[in-house]
Amino acid sequence: MARDVLCNVENCKYWDEGNKCIADTIYVIGTEGEKASDVDETGCKTFELRG
Ligand code: SF4
Repeated sequence: MARDVLCNVENCKYWDEGNKCIADTIYVIGTEGEKASDVDETGCKTFELRG
């Protein structure tokens, strides 16, 4: 299981200084389905817009 998740999405409510993700867990999905051909076809479904 991943322990130190780094992320550059600064407007997510789980983002913290140093590009750290502070969510307890994250859920990464394939944007085109359940298989990905490259990194661009993966994305974080745990993202929530910082309010
Ligand atoms: S929940 Fe996803 S988008 Fe948000 S900081 Fe963590 S890894 Fe990045």
